[in-house]
Amino acid sequence: MEERMGNRDENGLLQGLESEAGRDASAVDAAIAGWTAAYSTAGGKIFCGKGCSGCCSLAVNCTLPEALRVAELLTEGQKRSVLEHGEKIVERLPDVRDLKEYLRMHRDELGRCPLLESDGSCGVYAVRPLSCRSLISTKESRWCSTDFAALDAAEKRTFVESLDTSAVAFPTHYAAFPQQAALAREEAAERLMKETFGFSLSGNLRYLLFVEVAHGIGRTVSRGFDATATFLFSKGLLLPFVLDLK
Ligand code: SF4
Repeated sequence: MEERMGNRDENGLLQGLESEAGRDASAVDAAIAGWTAAYSTAGGKIFCGKGCSGCCSLAVNCTLPEALRVAELLTEGQKRSVLEHGEKIVERLPDVRDLKEYLRMHRDELGRCPLLESDGSCGVYAVRPLSCRSLISTKESRWCSTDFAALDAAEKRTFVESLDTSAVAFPTHYAAFPQQAALAREEAAERLMKETFGFSLSGNLRYLLFVEVAHGIGRTVSRGFDATATFLFSKGLLLPFVLDLK
């Protein structure tokens, strides 16, 4: 790995951003633990636990440094899963017309995260991105994989009326505070990347991993915005919904 890091990141700038992502993760974990303890003391209940992987079918977004932290620890088997998964995204995405269709395709066609283990645990738990850390469910895990578009009006009303509106990011059943804490860190990370390289790159976790494993995006970012945009464009990787280059 040292040789690879030396090639792609001579000044250690990218490594610095990845280290910062690690500190962000620890800070968000601590904030969420404090919030969860206070919520439980006040009578609230959190339903997240090892193996309940309903939220791992959702579209998870993260910054490039977060994705690179994950990519560095992937096993050969995980890399193969990421490559298969990424190829499906590249094949399917040009036909997707809008965000709603993208989210439907993500849930119904791509399905579970390629890093999910067969027992429902996360295969990269220690380095999972902020988006994964901050989805904290105030309802049973079946609600994390429910297709709300398929519910009838009465079922939707019953669900909405059951929410703890003092805690959730309404109208979802996920706690609001953890997501706010993560978002603040993600925005700070994007600013830091912009200050460091003149641009920021974030997007869908699965796709960013594919772009790194298959094409080594980490070797390009230190050459700046134009070089990165040209690299992505020339390889047909600059796709909507899954990449945010700015
Ligand atoms: S990285 Fe881990 S926690 Fe996040 S979606 Fe994938 S399996 Fe789930």
